[in-house]
Order: sequence, then structure tokens, then C-alpha cells
Amino acid sequence: MMEKKQEMMQQRREAGSIATHFPEVASIDMDMTYNQKGTKSIRRTFHFSPSSYAFFIVNCLRKDCVDGGFDLTQVITTMIRNHRVEVKGVLSCKGTDSSTNHSDIVYEVSIQYT
Ligand SMILES: [Zn+2]
Repeated sequence: MMEKKQEMMQQRREAGSIATHFPEVASIDMDMTYNQKGTKSIRRTFHFSPSSYAFFIVNCLRKDCVDGGFDLTQVITTMIRNHRVEVKGVLSCKGTDSSTNHSDIVYEVSIQYT
């Protein structure tokens, strides 16, 4: 598991900054509500500034989730390409281990442009 985490941090560093990839973006806010069977939903918010890493993958709530998580990269790059300011949607964890405890998220992304 440790290796997996380091791998993800490595990917993050290699992603480069938002300013490099998307110079027209002033800030990005991600509002996620995690829904996991049997537990209360959890809300997390993420804020990205131009100096943040352009890395939009969020972990699953299940600690030992294998190859899971939520990849918002496609959502965000599509939004920027179309100059959308707000998008809502739902994603399910794509974890490949057999457990049923993976989470679903409802996301709300808003982007401010320069
Ligand atoms: Zn998962």
C-alpha cells in the first residue's frame, strides 16, 4: 500500500502545475460528497490555485482499495476546453478488488477563469 501511495505522489509531482497546463484558469474548486454503504456521507472540498499540481485523482474512502479512486481529470479538462464554470456529476470507485465497500461520490466542480 505504501508503494501505491508513493507512486501517486510521484505522479502528482510529474503532473506539473495548473498554470503550466491551463494558464487561463484562476482557480478550481471541487466539492465531493462521498457515499459509502453503511456509513454517513462525508463531504470534502479541494481548492486548486494556479500553482497547485494539475492532478485531479482523489482516493476512495476504503483504506485498502486496490486501483480505485476517482479520476476527475477528464471532467476538468473537458470543462476547461469548453470554458464551463460549473459541472455536477456522479462517479463510482473503479477499484478492482472484490469488496463491496467502495464509495460513490457526487461531485461539483467550479472553475474561475482569468
Ligand atoms: Zn474503492
